Amino acid sequence: MKILAKYGKDDLATVFLGETSSGVLVEFVQSLQPPLDRSEKWVLIVSTLRGCPVGCLMCDAGSYYEGKLSAEDIMEQIEFLMEYYFPTKKVETKKFKIQFARVGEPAFNQNVLVVLKKLSCYENLLPSISTVAPEGTDVFFERLLELKNIYYPGKFQLQFSIHSTDETERNQIIPIKKWSFEKISEYGNKFVSDGDRKITLNFAVAKNYQLDPKVIIRFFDPAKFLIKITPVNPTHNALKNSIASDVDLQTGMPMTHKDFVEELLMSGYQVILSIGELEENQIGSNCGQYVRKHLIEKDKFIQAYSYVR
Ligand code: SF4
Repeated sequence: MKILAKYGKDDLATVFLGETSSGVLVEFVQSLQPPLDRSEKWVLIVSTLRGCPVGCLMCDAGSYYEGKLSAEDIMEQIEFLMEYYFPTKKVETKKFKIQFARVGEPAFNQNVLVVLKKLSCYENLLPSISTVAPEGTDVFFERLLELKNIYYPGKFQLQFSIHSTDETERNQIIPIKKWSFEKISEYGNKFVSDGDRKITLNFAVAKNYQLDPKVIIRFFDPAKFLIKITPVNPTHNALKNSIASDVDLQTGMPMTHKDFVEELLMSGYQVILSIGELEENQIGSNCGQYVRKHLIEKDKFIQAYSYVR
């Protein structure tokens, strides 16, 4: 891996731009969750595609697509970070999390499954897949279920990014054909066995999105699914598409959609309000951000990416 640029702070989050040995440009992240230090929790966020063909309205990674990364290209991101921060190559951290969530929809790339199998030798590893559930990826998800059962029982984190409970609006925000709520629910019911982590339904909550708790209650079992509320991060595309975050950055609670959270809590759902570290917006390491996009944007007057020169 040849490192072309590095932005951020080692004790919070760092974005790396690199060229793999096959000559492919990749962007990947390491981050901590203060006050925990690296010996307690360490999170790697790696790319799985070269750009992304989905083009979610709030995401800067979806502006172009040049193909899949090989298993080696994905492994090089992980191995580079492991050697950079743990020169002995022994990852001495209690919670070692790898998210396949930087650039690219992971379900479009079967090589992610190859990497997951390779990584199963790390006992402290908690892998995490974040997906929009694209249509035509059933084989990926069936194999993922098998892999989880064999190698990661009780320690696999699966997240479906939903954003709206209205299917028409969801299709506008995530403009590809996707699994219906019913299909996600059926899969989730199969996926979560005794001792497994619940599946996360993630909502990056915007003021004008439709969020109806009745839809969640109708389709998703609170014993198998939990709800995660996140802000819409400051990205070039969120700005261009006039998507205004609804989340109060002090409390993590949505403002327009407070009732959505309260009704779900009353109905027995676990709801996580996740605002993360706001300085990560300046570093460009948060979800939906993409440093390469920022570097080529002409209009750099955005409340983010200030670490990127
Ligand atoms: S949010 Fe994920 S699926 Fe959507 S464009 Fe960005 S990388 Fe692709």
